[in-house]
Amino acid sequence: TFFRHEPRRNQLVNELWKAQQRDGHITEQTMEALSRDLDISLIEIQGVVSFYHFFHTRPTARHVIYLNNSIISKIKGYERIREALERETGSRFNTKDRTDTFALFETPCIGLSDQEPAALIDFHPFTNLNVMKVREIIAALKDGKEAADICDQPADHIRYLPPNNHTIFFRPYTAGEGLGRAMVLSPGEVIKIVKTSELSGRGGAFYPTWIKWDGCRKQKATPKYVVCNADEGEPGTFKDRVLLDREPGSVLEGMIIAGYAIGAKYGIIYLRAEYRWLLRKLEATIQQFYDQGLLGRAIRGNPDFDFDIRIQLGAGSYVCGEETALLESMEGKRGEPRTKWYFPVERGYLQKPTIINNVETFAAVARMMEMGINNYLNRGIPGSPGTKLISLSGDVRKPGIYEIEWGMTIAELLGHAGAEDPAYIQLSGPSGECVSMNQKHRRISMRDLLSTQDIRCGGSFMVLNRHRDIMTILLNFSEFFLKESCGICTPCRAGNYIIHKKLQKMANGLATQADVEEMRQWCHIMKETSRCGLGKTAYNTPLMAINEFSDYFSEKLEGAGNGMNLKFNMDEAISDYEKYKV
Ligand code: SF4
Repeated sequence: TFFRHEPRRNQLVNELWKAQQRDGHITEQTMEALSRDLDISLIEIQGVVSFYHFFHTRPTARHVIYLNNSIISKIKGYERIREALERETGSRFNTKDRTDTFALFETPCIGLSDQEPAALIDFHPFTNLNVMKVREIIAALKDGKEAADICDQPADHIRYLPPNNHTIFFRPYTAGEGLGRAMVLSPGEVIKIVKTSELSGRGGAFYPTWIKWDGCRKQKATPKYVVCNADEGEPGTFKDRVLLDREPGSVLEGMIIAGYAIGAKYGIIYLRAEYRWLLRKLEATIQQFYDQGLLGRAIRGNPDFDFDIRIQLGAGSYVCGEETALLESMEGKRGEPRTKWYFPVERGYLQKPTIINNVETFAAVARMMEMGINNYLNRGIPGSPGTKLISLSGDVRKPGIYEIEWGMTIAELLGHAGAEDPAYIQLSGPSGECVSMNQKHRRISMRDLLSTQDIRCGGSFMVLNRHRDIMTILLNFSEFFLKESCGICTPCRAGNYIIHKKLQKMANGLATQADVEEMRQWCHIMKETSRCGLGKTAYNTPLMAINEFSDYFSEKLEGAGNGMNLKFNMDEAISDYEKYKV
């Protein structure tokens, strides 16, 4: 339910979802009707529909299947599952079968990397797929069963490290305990506690949480907003899914505490469409909070504190995890990042002061209030207090969520997870960094990347063994960025294409040192001139890999150099790029 003061046009994405569920796709008539009803131009609506992966303007089918094609899915049997789906449904990918029963699509990450191969069927999760399981699922759907009735409840696989570690995030939870302790303090004192905790953005940006909160508190404009970024789209990351599934109350409570601290009355959870199956549970938890007087008017008897929370569903776009793109999406627009004239704490949602924090960040706030700041500070290492949730997947015997104390080394974590012959580790998703086992001694912390001892990790650890081909990994990542770039700025749009092409050239044994140099130049341009983090970080991994795995790459570069096929053709690049966007 939208807040009463929100403009009607903000309901566009929700209305499109409703229409698609009713008609199977979004028709021209629907768009025209919405254009009249919400007073938005038809061309703008068409632009919004074309932006999001999960909106379809052509008829789909009774059951829509999205198979995950991330690198983890690829190493866990993606090809077999893809073939099995085509065989059993009689459909081909990117289209539907003749009876309009099944439509097949791919998608980059659905937050289930610990149980791949996995797929969403009608937005319900199906995990640990094998050929037999696919056969049974499709047979059941053909028999008239609903995906909701036969889907899996994803396992949560939570482990605490070191084993005697007392968890912060999965302690027994009593709703309202942390909030009660926060509300005996003044808003300024709450922010002071958040500052003492050194909590910083757990989505991976590590921006100090208290600075955002303090900045927003000082703004005069109202109303203010608290936004929970539950758009966990970085391939290999699924910690927020587990938190929302297991401990939704702590996330809501963190948002309410934030509202109290900054003087906001409204909270919005931006939930990625891939987690639509969590919607019912989240709505039920919100309702419980209203019933317990933890949301609504005069919370805990404080006549000056009202707070409401609603959920905004995304529609499939990685870049909407970027905070200003997320704001645009919440306003019913294409999720294109804003130019950074203002910080969201100055002008965010509806141009009003807004804080945007990650799911884990809010949960950490609720827990530190409940357990006491000293208790919280007892864990971790100086400069990085507390614990961190890591999504660990790939070539390990025990994939899942690891709650580690900051300061653990890469080697220790891999040892606990039962890593099998690890060689390549991708930290913080494709936009993060890759390391070889030469760096296994490094500690995982919140500290500066330049520190030689410590290494930052936003929450994802993808482990690949020595039998995996590095080029295949890099091509999977570069294709991901190529498809997910919103395309609004040239350096990102063209740069991602060029990096992808260079990597393909390298994989084919045709690249030379000149290509690597050209890549470096493009990376520099992308870093300096892209509008948002996607363009600024997409090159991180390939360049790091070239340095980190220099033996592998010198072999790749050796055989080339005959002068053929080495010059890049920009015209060809642009027309080829158009094909990708289709
Ligand atoms: Fe869009 Fe890329 Fe520019 Fe970000 S950097 S705004 S994703 S084109």
